Amino acid sequence: MAPDLVGRLLDAAVTTIRNHAAQLTALDQAIGDGDHGVNMRRGFDAIADARDQLVGLPLDQALQKAGMTLVMKVGGASGPLYGSLLMAMGKAGAPRDAAGIAEIFGQGIEAVKKRGRSDVGEKTMLDVLVPTLQALQAGAADGAATGELTGRLRAVAEEALAATAPMRATKGRASFLGDRSIGHLDPGARSSALLIEAVCDVLDGSA
Ligand code: ADP
Ligand code: MG
Repeated sequence: MAPDLVGRLLDAAVTTIRNHAAQLTALDQAIGDGDHGVNMRRGFDAIADARDQLVGLPLDQALQKAGMTLVMKVGGASGPLYGSLLMAMGKAGAPRDAAGIAEIFGQGIEAVKKRGRSDVGEKTMLDVLVPTLQALQAGAADGAATGELTGRLRAVAEEALAATAPMRATKGRASFLGDRSIGHLDPGARSSALLIEAVCDVLDGSA
C-alpha cells in the first residue's frame, strides 16, 4: 500500500463532497427533504477533522474509523448507510489488487443492503454501487490495467446514475412520492458516483 494512500483517498472524497454539497441538496429537494448535501458535508467535514489520526492508520482501520464517524455524525439515512459501507469494507481487510478491492467493496455493499433492507432497482445509492462493483469484478477477472479499469468504472457509475432518473423509488424518503419520484436523479446515487470518481482519480493517479 502506498504510504499516503489513506490521505489521498480522504482528501479526494472530502473535496468532492464539499464541491458538490449544493448539488446533492438540490437533488434531495426534488424527491426528499433537501438535506443530502448538508448530511454528506457534515460527515465528510468530521472525517477531515480526524485526518491526522486517520492517515496514521492502515487502510482497513482507517475505513472502519471513517465509517464510524459517518454513523455518529450524520443524522439522515445516508450516514448509517455510508457508515455501514465503509465499516464493512474495513472489516473485510486490506486489498492487494483489483480482485481484493472488489471483494471488500462487495462486503461493504452487502452491509448497505442489510442495513437499508434494500436492493438494486429501488432508486438508491445501490443502483450506482452494485453496477460499479460488477464492472470492477469483470475488470479484475480480465486483468484490465488500472487506467483502463478506472475509466470503465467512471463510465459505469455515470451511466448507472443516469439510469436512476426513470426509476420509481421504493426505499427511503423518495418512496413517499411514489410515481412523482420518476424523472429525477437519486441524490444518494449521485453522491456514490462522486465518491467512486474520487477513488478512481486517486487510484489512477489523476488526483
Ligand atoms: P434522508 O433520506 O434521511 O433525508 P439523505 O437525504 O442524506 O437521508 O440520503 C438520502 C439517500 O439515501 C437517498 O437518495 C438514497 O440513495 C439513500 N437511501 C435512503 N434509504 C435507503 C435504503 N433503504 N437503502 C439504500 N439507500 C437508501
Ligand atoms: Mg434527505
